Amino acid sequence: MQNTYDCLVIGAGFAGAVTARELAERAGKRVLVLERRDHIAGNAYDRPDAHGILIHQYGPHIFHTSNERVYRYLSRFTQWRDYQHRVVAQVHGTEMPVPFNLTSLELAFGKEKAAALEAKLLAAYGPEKKVTILELRKNGDPEIAALADYVYENVFLHYTMKQWGQTPEEIDPNTTARVPVFLSRDDRYFQDPWQGMPLESYTSLFRRMLDHPNITVELGADAQDRLSLKEDGTVELDGAPFAGPVVYTGAVDELFGCRYGRLPYRTLEFRFEHYPVDFWQSHGTVNYTVSEEWTRITEFKYLTGQEAPGSTTIAKEISHPYTGAAEETPYYAIISPENNALYGRYKALADRYAGLHLLGRLAEYKYYNMDAIVAQALALSDTLVEKGA
Ligand code: FAD
Ligand code: UDP
Repeated sequence: MQNTYDCLVIGAGFAGAVTARELAERAGKRVLVLERRDHIAGNAYDRPDAHGILIHQYGPHIFHTSNERVYRYLSRFTQWRDYQHRVVAQVHGTEMPVPFNLTSLELAFGKEKAAALEAKLLAAYGPEKKVTILELRKNGDPEIAALADYVYENVFLHYTMKQWGQTPEEIDPNTTARVPVFLSRDDRYFQDPWQGMPLESYTSLFRRMLDHPNITVELGADAQDRLSLKEDGTVELDGAPFAGPVVYTGAVDELFGCRYGRLPYRTLEFRFEHYPVDFWQSHGTVNYTVSEEWTRITEFKYLTGQEAPGSTTIAKEISHPYTGAAEETPYYAIISPENNALYGRYKALADRYAGLHLLGRLAEYKYYNMDAIVAQALALSDTLVEKGA
């Protein structure tokens, strides 16, 4: 049997959808997208719940980037709603901005003491600077060290233990560096020049991106059942040789039957709750940094701007180790030298297949935001288009 497609893309998240569109549009290739779930959009998938509230099924997604190409590219498929995400930590009954900033300092220590600490911090690091908690804890000044201990204990330690089952020292330092202490009164979670939410929804952004005569999307289609990687370095799709590029955006260990053991991930449990009120909490996201079993609660209406008087939905996020069970989703790669080495062994296997490209948060075993994935997908597409795919 002759395959009727030029390129194969596994997964219809940002990595897969962007690459499919680029290969279809710029290289004129016939692209088959296989998606194991019954919907497109990967973990960015959103939909109305039973109460008509637009929710993010796999956790809250806020778009932010300093990459102009990425912003312009996605703007082809969506208009944007201006939204600047603000997060507070619930610390023993007081809500203070996260990242911990000069306003948080005042809420934690009172005006007078905060002013003295602010002066010291600005002298040490400079205004508008971002300092990671691990860096701040190295400061030799006893007053700054006491402040660092306070932030460590009340913002990072318990949240990180809940999210990762490890302390901030034990996890990859780039993870806590995502939320540095910010010597500013800017209380936004992100400072990127472009940030916002798709005006309609992420799912409609994806629908437009995948709406191209050269793209065929099959839902409920697991590559495990369709794709076969032969020992001789050839690839088969549905039992027939497939010579075109294969862009794989799923977990790489699964591609090889987990033969070296599973790559470790954290999974999340989302508890959605609906309330008959306009708004249930004070901000889009509240982080529970000293109490509760959940790490954070997000109220979607803040993010989406949906008008729905007397009706709102929240999601509580509870983190667990990923076991590989079918109903679990591997959300976060657990970056460590040991796990990266295991990843390297799978990557070496994948490299034996000339047309196989690993792309995305799962396939590359990285902690990528959406914009980074889009940038990676555009870069891979550039290479493939240049080579005539
Ligand atoms: P995914 O979206 O995971 O897509 C991969 C797709 O491949 C999935 O649909 C999967 O079903 C499919 N697949 C896997 N294996 C197979 C197979 N064998 N056969 C067929 N299909 C398969 N980023 C931000 O920029 N801002 C945020 O606010 C943000 N919030 C986040 C919150 C949470 C809780 C999480 C977990 C992530 C968040 N991210 C955020 C990151 C964002 O989700 C990712 O960057 C992005 O979704 C990655 O896209 P991807 O295409 O690589 O992977
Ligand atoms: N973090 C924390 N307390 C907070 C916010 C973040 O300890 O209030 C740490 C925690 O380890 C978390 C990491 O910083 O996993 C990155 O946070 P981010 O909000 O970027 O995580 P994501 O949205 O990707 O889950």
